[in-house]
Amino acid sequence: MATVGVLALQGDVREHANAIQAAGGMWTPVRHPEDLDGIDALILPGGESTTIGRLAGIYGLIEPLRAAIADGLPTLGTCAGMIFLAAGMMQGEQVQLGVLDVIVERNAFGRQNESFEANLEVAGFDRPFRAVFIRAPWVVKVGGGVEVVATVDDHPVMVRQGNILASSFHPELTSDVRIHTMVLQAAESRDPRDGER
Ligand code: GLN
Repeated sequence: MATVGVLALQGDVREHANAIQAAGGMWTPVRHPEDLDGIDALILPGGESTTIGRLAGIYGLIEPLRAAIADGLPTLGTCAGMIFLAAGMMQGEQVQLGVLDVIVERNAFGRQNESFEANLEVAGFDRPFRAVFIRAPWVVKVGGGVEVVATVDDHPVMVRQGNILASSFHPELTSDVRIHTMVLQAAESRDPRDGER
């Protein structure tokens, strides 16, 4: 059974852990670089991206996270996790991993629409995904290797780049575990020798 590491510095860690378990996987918290050893996939949860970035720096996790993801570790970032994965942001500056070739805009849906739900068409899904958006970012620019998997009003809200999947919304807050199942499938189909090449 695949074990998914959930970055457990701040944010909705428990909800992702529950979703992984509901999808048939195991989970372990990631707080220190050595916690990355032996995990088959990684989740960067939602929360506050400035706080997550700052704490990841304090815990010495920035370079180990970059290396593990660049090495092919299947990774899902949701909301603040998507911001943390991205290469840049429209306004301001904060610690970002820069492994996902997109530029994001934080809190992009604005005050009037800070939190909302939508039935999202996701590429590859046979029925819509009920997506919960909470002060969510959207993607403003995508690099060449990035596939847009879902949009709201033409704004990308879910993207994939190789082993990295990122969503503006919170798939861990509903009982629909299809996105967590994708993570587990990616973890299970990963060649265990990937990291040794
Ligand atoms: N608005 C938060 C940020 O910019 C993200 C919100 C969330 O993760 N639900 O980091």
